[in-house]
Amino acid sequence: MENEIKRLLGTIVHPETGENLVSGGMVEHLAATADKATVVLRFARARDPFATKIKKQAETVLSEAFPQLEILVVIKEGGQPPRPEPKQTTTTGSIARVIAVASGKGGVGKSTVTANLAIALRNMGFRVGILDADIYGPSQPKMFGVEGYLPDAVQEEGQDRIVPAEALDVKLMSIGFFIKPTDALLWRGAMAVNALKQMIHQTRWGTLDFLLTDLPPGTGDIHLSIIGELKIDAAVIVSTPQQVAVADVVRGVEMFRNPNVNIPIAGIVENMAWFTPEELPDNRYYLFGKGGARKFAEENDVDFLGEIPIVQSIMEGSEAGRPAVGIDPRVEKWYREIAVRIVEKAMKNG
Ligand code: ADP
Repeated sequence: MENEIKRLLGTIVHPETGENLVSGGMVEHLAATADKATVVLRFARARDPFATKIKKQAETVLSEAFPQLEILVVIKEGGQPPRPEPKQTTTTGSIARVIAVASGKGGVGKSTVTANLAIALRNMGFRVGILDADIYGPSQPKMFGVEGYLPDAVQEEGQDRIVPAEALDVKLMSIGFFIKPTDALLWRGAMAVNALKQMIHQTRWGTLDFLLTDLPPGTGDIHLSIIGELKIDAAVIVSTPQQVAVADVVRGVEMFRNPNVNIPIAGIVENMAWFTPEELPDNRYYLFGKGGARKFAEENDVDFLGEIPIVQSIMEGSEAGRPAVGIDPRVEKWYREIAVRIVEKAMKNG
């Protein structure tokens, strides 16, 4: 009977992953007696929007096949993914992997990608922090709706610690907490770097699987200083189709590959790859040409991590302080694919 139950569960497909419950490894436990069948389904992410629907489907097919049995389908959420081994022990906790998110130019969506990747990784069950080091335009506080946050300094074991903001299970420290938008220009250079050093070493991060760093756009001395402090494990480069042909992206690749820097490039994300209007969700308009980032990736021996279209929910999510991955299932799917690739690489580089 258990084989038959398994076969039936194998006919139910998770709409987002496209995997059935058996092949997707979601059946954690299965037991049947003469009068009762119990199935435990494990959903990898907490608050999976399809959990209830899938539970009902499982109950229906099983009660139809075995009307004599009492059917019990139990849902468990938030499966523990294999975590990267802690590598860096900071004075305030341990951070397993530091991923830098970089771009050749501003305005290509580097901060948006950072915020959404953080939520995608969180949804996969990882403990995530963001260090917003974009001194020219720190936008993470807005993306997470914590703009007014004033970091507290606390004394712990005789040391000063800075308490990060926390929103949507993500720990966030931003240079934006320390400067007014109007000051930004003054903060370029040594001052900003010193402030960043403090943020890197004194923030009470606790234990993180991933710390994503939103770097300033471009390449320069500030980048080298941050990179020198942070022990970055992998870099993700964000570009739009329009910008990918421009020399800045190549300079970014060269910066990470410079023998003195020597940071593995996880790959390139093409943001704003196409436009899909709300009212015509199946139409794709490649406003700035198609396949540019893929070609760039091939020519420069960089991996292509995936593409994200221009969609309204992404822009609105950033404005509203809730990254779209947490709200729009389409966006979550695009980002999850990219996040999975990054995790694979980060684990390998460990
Ligand atoms: P950067 O960090 O590279 O300067 P941002 O992440 O701040 O760029 O993005 C610039 C603007 O573009 C923001 O208003 C953001 O909401 C918007 N944006 C970024 N990516 C997308 C996207 N895929 N779809 C719609 N709007 C986007």
